[in-house]
Amino acid sequence: MTLNKNDDCIFCRIAEGKSPCAELYSDDLVMAFLDIAPVNKGHALVIPKAHYRDIFEMPPTMGEALIRAQQHVGNAIMAATKAEGLNIYMNNKAAAGQVVFHAHWHLIPRFANDSLRLWPQHVYDDTEEMLQLAAEIRKKLR
Ligand code: AMP
Ligand code: ZN
Repeated sequence: MTLNKNDDCIFCRIAEGKSPCAELYSDDLVMAFLDIAPVNKGHALVIPKAHYRDIFEMPPTMGEALIRAQQHVGNAIMAATKAEGLNIYMNNKAAAGQVVFHAHWHLIPRFANDSLRLWPQHVYDDTEEMLQLAAEIRKKLR
């Protein structure tokens, strides 16, 4: 199978076996390995082997293989680390914190007492503001 590759991309090099990683899982389309700077130990990354910059470049048909790997690897991480939960999240584009521009999902084992707060939340000025924004977003779906 010929995959879309980018020689300057660290995750493409890992997917091709040209750079080392602590591999957890690999199939034709997807692989998973430990993140070198874990939020909690066992923090892993699930990537498509082909190079897509972010979720917006990726064909939706990749979704099934990625979700299967997230479930399979996520269960194994929780079992091995005795985690009570698992965050699965993704950064898309620099403003959202993306640093490696090859689509990837973070799998982070969580413990009831790990005192991690992923993000602060805010409120809308009022219900009107919230409903107006929902209408703006729906317009962009057309
Ligand atoms: P993001 O901010 O979503 O782009 O996350 C990139 C992640 O990749 C960070 O959590 C890094 O610690 C991780 N990372 C970068 N290079 C490597 C590597 N060679 N092996 C494993 N993880 C890596
Ligand atoms: Zn890549």
